Amino acid sequence: MTERFVSEHFKSPDSHLVATDGLQYQQPSITHGRTDIVSLTPWLAPIVWEGTFNPVLLDSVYQKKNISIAVTVFAVGKYIMFMKDFLETAEQHFFVGFRVHVHVFTDRPNEVPKVKMADGRKLSVHSVPNSKRWQEISARRMEMIQKLIEEKLKGDMDYIFCLDVDSKFHGRWGTESLGELVAVIHPGYYRDHRSRFPYERRSASRAYMAPDEGDFYYCGGAFGGLLKEVHQLAQTCRKNFEDDAKEGIEAAWQEESHLNRYMWINKPSKVLSPEYLWQDFKPRNPEILIIRFSGVVKNYNDIRPN
Ligand code: UDP
Ligand code: MN
Repeated sequence: MTERFVSEHFKSPDSHLVATDGLQYQQPSITHGRTDIVSLTPWLAPIVWEGTFNPVLLDSVYQKKNISIAVTVFAVGKYIMFMKDFLETAEQHFFVGFRVHVHVFTDRPNEVPKVKMADGRKLSVHSVPNSKRWQEISARRMEMIQKLIEEKLKGDMDYIFCLDVDSKFHGRWGTESLGELVAVIHPGYYRDHRSRFPYERRSASRAYMAPDEGDFYYCGGAFGGLLKEVHQLAQTCRKNFEDDAKEGIEAAWQEESHLNRYMWINKPSKVLSPEYLWQDFKPRNPEILIIRFSGVVKNYNDIRPN
């Protein structure tokens, strides 16, 4: 699919931000704010942390635009057990008051729990094959995201977020997270030097990152943006993964490695702090004022096929 096709077939929401006249909110400051975190990348993309945005203001701006958000979530094999908590907590915290369409990909369509969803929110189930290797399940997500966007979403939804199922929402995840290309900083490495990031380090792989390369280590468990941008990301990561496979190489962390390579070259326009994907087993660091979404503790031996 050519770039030309992509730009002609995806609508983008109007970038004009219209405020609600009469809305009262705290005066913003350019000299006072959080001093314990960095909220801008060197390419001037916002890094979203609690205390850097006004949710009421942002929601009022985006409500006017009547935006819609697609979500993809994969629950293959035993991972179906995470689906209920994921869906129930998404109802409580994820884009509350907005149009949300959750796309569940599973080999067990009959086991997708029935969760009551608010008006304007819906769920679709897509059948996918099982696999003997978790690496393959994880890696094939990019292909399915690419196809979903091409076949079902274009011209219909505005934004998309692709999320791991083994996680729960604990706090607001909303309009502050919207952007053209959105990456989430992995909670495990954000205080480390880039040479220690678990990037793919073999130059034979298309996901290769040299020791002196890399901005942040982003997680494969959450990313998103405009359909057009996420389509390009999924298509590129899928192709690089498959071309690697033809040469007998699988990147260290499968599609997460390819995503990190992609985001190094294609800088995200918005970066979400580790508030947006924490891990339940990790003690909360002091700069984490709120945990919005977090991976549950799981026993890999019990749930993965290999
Ligand atoms: N996944 C799945 N079934 C599997 C393995 C993985 O559905 O057997 C999907 C699921 O959405 C999961 C994601 O792939 O959240 C990534 O795998 P996992 O969460 O195990 O990776 P981790 O977050 O532990 O690195
Ligand atoms: Mn996970």
